[in-house]
Parts: sequence; C-alpha cells; structure tokens
Amino acid sequence: MGLSKTIWTNPAEFLRMQQPENPVLFFAPSAVQAAARRFIDGFPGMVTYAVKSNPGEEMVENLAAAGVRGYDCASPFEIDLIRRLAPDAAIHYNNPVRARYEIEHAVARGVKSYSVDSRSELDKLIELVPAEGTEISVRFKLPVAGAAYNFGAKFGATADLADDLLKVVAEAGFIPSLTFHPGTQCTDPHAWEAYIRAAAEIAAEAGVTIARLNVGGGFPNHRLHAVVPALEDTFRLIDRVATEAFGDNRPLLVCEPGRAMCGDAFTLAARVKSVRDGEHVFLNDGVYGTLTELPLIGVIDRFQVVAPDGTPRTGKPENRIVFGPTCDSVDRLPGELPLPSDIAEGDYVIWHGMGSYSVVTNSRFNGFGDLQMATVLSLKV
Ligand SMILES: *Cc1c(COP(=O)(O)O)cnc(C)c1O
Repeated sequence: MGLSKTIWTNPAEFLRMQQPENPVLFFAPSAVQAAARRFIDGFPGMVTYAVKSNPGEEMVENLAAAGVRGYDCASPFEIDLIRRLAPDAAIHYNNPVRARYEIEHAVARGVKSYSVDSRSELDKLIELVPAEGTEISVRFKLPVAGAAYNFGAKFGATADLADDLLKVVAEAGFIPSLTFHPGTQCTDPHAWEAYIRAAAEIAAEAGVTIARLNVGGGFPNHRLHAVVPALEDTFRLIDRVATEAFGDNRPLLVCEPGRAMCGDAFTLAARVKSVRDGEHVFLNDGVYGTLTELPLIGVIDRFQVVAPDGTPRTGKPENRIVFGPTCDSVDRLPGELPLPSDIAEGDYVIWHGMGSYSVVTNSRFNGFGDLQMATVLSLKV
C-alpha cells in the first residue's frame, strides 16, 4: 500500500478514472488539519494524538504541521515512528503494561511520561526509569457508561488503588499525574465530568497535588448522520468541571484523541463484487478489512452508493444483508444496510468517517485486503 503523488479532486473523480477493483481509502489532508485545529483551538490544555488509531505517516506529518506537539504511544514501534516524523514532540508512553525491554527502549529515546495502573508495573518503572523530570500518570477507572465500549475492562486502577499508587509515585520522586480513558466513541460528555470529579477526590485522598490530568481519548467522530459530535461543548464542560473540582489545585489538562482526529479525514470506497441472485450484496471489503470495527461498535450510516461512472444511485433504500469478500461467515456487516434498490455489480459503496482503526487493522486474510490509498482535495463525493 502506498500513497501516490497524484492529488484527486474527490473520490468520484478517482473512481470514474481508475475503476479500482481493490478497496480504496481516500485521504483529505485538509480534514486532518481542520480536526487538529478544532482540538488545539478548543481544548483547554495540551493536545496529543493517540497514534494507534491511525499511524499513517501522512496522518502524523499533517498533525505535526498543524501544531500537534505530543503523541500517545503504546509500543517501541510507535515511539520510533514519532521520533522520526516529529522529532521534537513529547511522547507519552501510555500503555500501562510493558515488558522490561520496552521500558528500556523508551528511556533510551528520552520518553518522559508513562502511565501505570498496578503496583507490579509501577515497581518496574521505579527500577528502570530515572525519576528526575519524569511524569508517571496513574490510570484509574470508573464504572460509567457513555462510550461505544468500555475501556475499563482491561486497564485502570480502582480509586483506592489509584490513591496508593499516586502516593508511591510522589514518594519515589516522579511527577505525579492522573489519567483516564472514558471509552472510545464516547457520545456522553458527562462521562468526562464523572471522571474529572473522581480524579480530584483521588488526589485529595492521597494528599498529592497532581501536575497534570490526562482526560483521555474517546471523543467521537462522525459515524451517524443524526449524531454530530459536539466537541466544543465537551471541551467547555471539561474546562468548567476541572476548575470546580480542583479549585486552586487545578492541574494542567492533556487530551489524547485518536478517532476524533483521524476518523473524518478518510472515506472508503468498496466495490460491489456481486448482488447474488438479486439479493445479498458482496463487497471487496469487510470485517477482516477496513470495516473491522463495525461489529464491535456499530454501523456507520454515512454512506452512499455510486455507479462505476461516479453518479449516485438514487433508488429507494432497501434493507440488504452485506457480506465481505472472505469465505468466513463472520465476514458480514451487522444487521442490514439500507442500500438503494438499483445497486448493481461494479458499483461503489462509499463510507465516510473511516480513518480510525481501519487502515491499521486491515488484514490480508484469505488473500484480500490489498488496500489502496488516494489523496483528495475534498471528501465530498
Ligand atoms: C486508544 C487510546 C486512545 C484513543 O482513543 P480514541 O477512542 O480513539 O480517541 C487514547 N488513549 C489511550 C491510552 C488509548 O489506549
């Protein structure tokens, strides 16, 4: 997969001229820049990018150009990627469980911020990381809903454990901070409110003044026509609640959005391989390709269908079962999709909001997944 040098006007122009047989992800640098500016202008603190959601070089380079100065990394590979593409940026190593060689790798690359959610992993950090000028953020969790799925199932200390860890971090001479992740595609801003208030209680209970509070990623991208992310409202709520909860001890705030930064900058075109006996629609992309997330966090209803010449299909929507190209019966999109009645073999189904957890989780299972990327000026079809 490579990004060609040609810049196309929009996806329809590319489809008309190229008639691609493999799935294509269209990338609009202008959309990444706009998302980055929305965070930098609106978020009341430092904006970092969660590299795992889309580690494409074109993503990172555009974010760096737009002024994103910090990156949340989870592995030596991601750390090296950021050191190469954004050498002066801060790296926050926020995967709370690390092998010793991974910690040593980060120390050697000058990483100065780590998260932790357990005593055993904190002991490793204390042993291997020089405390001077280095931040350790204790990651905690709450049983709150609001996200598409709950990140607390894997990571996060309970409030009691977080108290203890915070004290140990401060006693060991590290810069003490707190962090949480409300869960991905979190459309309920009040999840942040609950977490910020809990953070203030944890710090007070531990008797530790925290330097920073990292309010995670989880900011939604635009997946459903009916639900447009109101990021600015969430930013204002975070700002207000941080002051209310911490008063004079208000920490600096950090956020680490993934999908909200990259999601809406990419649009997918998948070709219709067959309308089998006029019924089931088979696409050249599916849940082993870039549509991996649909069964996990729900469908994206921002799609449209165009004929091979790029003109929109306008038939009345009819619910259809849609399969991906592999021979695995799991390779089916959830539920049924309201596709235009005149959809035909050779058409393209175009999905918006496809930049996160898509390029990077695409697999070559069964020999499919030969994904192509194309740069466009506009994602409007
Ligand atoms: C995945 C992840 C993120 C980004 O989450 P999004 O829901 O994509 O915004 C941020 N922080 C951490 C620690 C993560 O693991």
